[in-house]
Parts: sequence; C-alpha cells; structure tokens
Amino acid sequence: MEEINKLKKELERTKMELGILYEISNAMRTTLKLDEILYIILTGVTAHTGLGFNRALLFLVNERDGLIEGKIAIAPDTGEEANRIWKQIEQEKMNLDDLINAHKVSNYATETGFNRQIRHMKLPLRERNGGLLALGVLDGMPLHLTKETMENYLHDPVIHILKTDELVVVPLKAKDRVNGLILADNFITRKPITKDDIRMLTMLANQAGLAIENSQLYEKTVIRAHSDYLTELWNHGYFQYLLQVEVEKSRATTQTLSLIMLDIDDFKVYNDTLGHQSGDTILKELASILRNLSRNMDHVCRYGGEELTIILPQTDKEEAFSIAERLRKDIERHPFIHEEILPQKKLTVSMGISTFPQDGATPSELIKASDKSLYEAKNKGKNNTCC
Ligand code: GH3
Ligand code: MG
Ligand code: MG
Repeated sequence: MEEINKLKKELERTKMELGILYEISNAMRTTLKLDEILYIILTGVTAHTGLGFNRALLFLVNERDGLIEGKIAIAPDTGEEANRIWKQIEQEKMNLDDLINAHKVSNYATETGFNRQIRHMKLPLRERNGGLLALGVLDGMPLHLTKETMENYLHDPVIHILKTDELVVVPLKAKDRVNGLILADNFITRKPITKDDIRMLTMLANQAGLAIENSQLYEKTVIRAHSDYLTELWNHGYFQYLLQVEVEKSRATTQTLSLIMLDIDDFKVYNDTLGHQSGDTILKELASILRNLSRNMDHVCRYGGEELTIILPQTDKEEAFSIAERLRKDIERHPFIHEEILPQKKLTVSMGISTFPQDGATPSELIKASDKSLYEAKNKGKNNTCC
C-alpha cells in the first residue's frame, strides 16, 4: 500500500512537471522575438505556477566577441517587494499566460535595478580565469553551488552581485552548442534547491536553448532582408516602413518626429577622380559614423545612392537641428581618405530636416519637405543644415 501511494505521488508530480513544461514551451512558440522569448523563459523559471525559483538570470554566449552577456533578470529588488508581487499574483490568480501578457502592458517585472545591472554585464568566455559563467558554458553541465562550494567563487563578479549561498547554473543548448546559461536561486525564501528542481530546470533549458537559437536565426534573416548590402544601413523599403510606423506612433501619442535627409557634397567629383570603388569605401565609412553617433532609438537608412536618411522619433525641430549640426561638424572634421581632391579639400555633407506634424502629416509629405530643405542647404553653398 505504501509503495502504491509513493508511486501515485510520483505520478502526480510527473504529471504536474509535464504540464508546466508543456505550458512554457507553448508560450515560447507564440513569438519569434528574442526579448519576448527570454522573458517567457524566466517567467517559467520564477512563476509559482512554473518552477517557482525566487530569482532567475539569463546570459547568452556571444561567440564572435568571446563574451557571455547578461540579457535579463527577473528578481524583486527586496523581500518586501517580492512579497507584494507574489501576493498580487496570488490574489489575481495569475497563471503563466497572465504573467506573460502582463509584461506586454507593463514591464514591472524587469524594471528593477537588478535587471539593469545584469543587462550591463559582459564577462570573458575563456578557459583560464574565466569565472563561474565561463565554466558553466565550457562544461556544459548543470552546476549546483551550495554554501561549501560557493567559497571558491566569492570573488566572482556574478556571485558578488547575487550575494547568495545556494545557486544553480544550467546551460542552454542548441544542438550540441551551449548558447547561454540560466542562473536561479531562492534568495528570499531560502528554500533549498532540490534534485527535482534542477532536473526540471535542465529540461526547460533544453527547450529554451533551441527556442533562442530559432529566434536568433529569424532575427538575423529579417535584419539581412531589410539591410542595404554596401552600408549595412536599413534599405529604402524598410526606411519607408519605419517612417510609416513612426509617424503613426507619433500621431497616436501626439509627439513630434523629425526626419533628416543627408547628401554628400560633390560626391561625383570624388567618384570621377578616384573611381566608384573608392567612393563606395567613403559611403561605408560615412554610414558607420552615422550609426555610431546616432541614438539607439534613431533609424539610419540609405535612401538611395549617396543619400541617407535618419528618422528621429520623439524629436522636435530644434533638437533635430542641433543633432544634425553635431553630425555635420563631426563629418567635416573626420579625416576621409584623399578628401583633399574635393573642391573644399574636405568631405562634407548637406542636410535637410522636416518635422511631424508641422511640415507634413504623412511620410511622403515629410520626405518632400526634408528634400526641399536639403535643396536649400545645397543652394546656400553646401556643408549646411536647413529646416
Ligand atoms: P552635390 O553636392 O550637389 O550633391 O553634388 P554631387 O556630385 O554629390 O551630386 P549628386 O548628389 O547628384 O551625386 C550623385 C553622385 O553620387 C553620382 C555618383 O557618382 C555618386 N553615387 C551615387 N550612388 C553611389 C554609390 O552607390 N557608390 C558610389 N561610389 N557613388 C555613388
Ligand atoms: Mg545626391
Ligand atoms: Mg551629393
């Protein structure tokens, strides 16, 4: 009888575990957006209807730069904060789906100082002195650190932040490659991490690793399809799409938006003297300068030929003008190869600005208006910005 009860209990647990994994993997299939997938994974790790860990962190391997990069952490800043959130979740009887959808409305779970701290972490991926995370990636096996084994890692940057005395580190795998790590602990309740917890987390991580790889491949393909081959800026088609989306957003939120149209001065002279290939090199260099100097929310695009555009969301004319002028001066100062053959002995650009809504209510009106301003800037003697 006792034996049967034990089996029954085990069966119940297995059923529950399968249910949780099924729910999480379904949720992961609802999107290909990496940010959303990562959030779903950690919600599964931390939700009380999921694996129920107090805190979870996710790191991804950046093989190109040999780094392990922090991507997201779900962790209440304090014990009181945790209790408040957990109580709310219980009162509202939120299941996994509700928690995931709640995030689309407000980012309450990830707008913590802790999350920001983790997202800034970049750690070296190397065998010697690489630290705990490098070990986790290179080893490719779950690591369970307890009070005793933690001693060896007290100086590790991650342990330094976590200040925990029990932690599990589980690799995310895509085929045979480790593409990331999940770290989880029970910092607040101090509930010991069991073998079952680790087994569940490992199963979840195996699915998560594949979902992450799929989404990364998808994002890469999308980016490539929308990029210009020479400059790697957004191409003309995607520029039109982005402008449409941003204009609609500005209209809905009654915010301003500015558009900069940029054209290289006397570029034909450069091409005719040094050849198109040299001209292409300049275009590429200019594109990378603009990308580096623009803000994260801006969209730098290649409109066509040697004409580039920058979409500046939430930016009024005045601010757009000062941004454009800063860019123009930086380009004027930048030493481009053989620029001395140009009439002004240096490579310069002219820019025209238009602003939503005063200069146009639609993308095409805005393009027309910035084109007109650009024409004015050329007429004024080039190396100029007009609004
Ligand atoms: P302006 O100061 O009036 O702009 O004079 P400009 O010579 O730059 O004239 P325009 O803006 O009409 O420039 C067109 C020239 O830009 C023609 C061509 O030589 C060059 N160009 C356009 N697209 C490319 C490109 O993809 N690669 C290269 N190398 N040159 C290009
Ligand atoms: Mg031109
Ligand atoms: Mg030109």
